[in-house]
Amino acid sequence: MKKYIWIFVLILIGFALVCNINSTPKVSGGLMGSDSTKKINNSESDGFEIKKSEEEWKQILTPEQYRVLREKGTERAFTGKFYKNHETGIYVCAACGNELFSSETKYESGSGWPSYWEPVSENSVKLLEDTSYGMIRTEVVCGKCGSHLGHVFDDGPQPTGKRYCINSISLDFKKDSTK
Ligand code: FE
Repeated sequence: MKKYIWIFVLILIGFALVCNINSTPKVSGGLMGSDSTKKINNSESDGFEIKKSEEEWKQILTPEQYRVLREKGTERAFTGKFYKNHETGIYVCAACGNELFSSETKYESGSGWPSYWEPVSENSVKLLEDTSYGMIRTEVVCGKCGSHLGHVFDDGPQPTGKRYCINSISLDFKKDSTK
């Protein structure tokens, strides 16, 4: 009889363990939820008006443009074609032509990359959390095609206090011929 009681107790313990294991995913459900939130914030995700396969991007862009725009690379400071550009006009996405920054908001940040204190409109760029290289930064991507442009920092001039630090190679420039 004693033997049967022990078997019963062991079965009970077994049940308790199984229930515990089953409840573990429920607890981490919250964590999984935050993972999926991160996924939404990922520039590779859908939700951009212009969608192309990486093969298609490779055909449109030069290898260096592809490295920066699609692989989130960074051009070397003081080497880009626009950091010293003072002409009046609009800077557009080199990948899709989306209007991004006006020369009116461009300023000398001394960083070696073209810097702006504001994009042309709220939807022209999208901001994503970037935790690469052990830093927490805010990545700036094109609002239409999701291509990588640069990062935004809080050490810019007024009226916004923002510094949109953008790779020249991610940009094209449309000169305002009326000025
Ligand atoms: Fe774009």
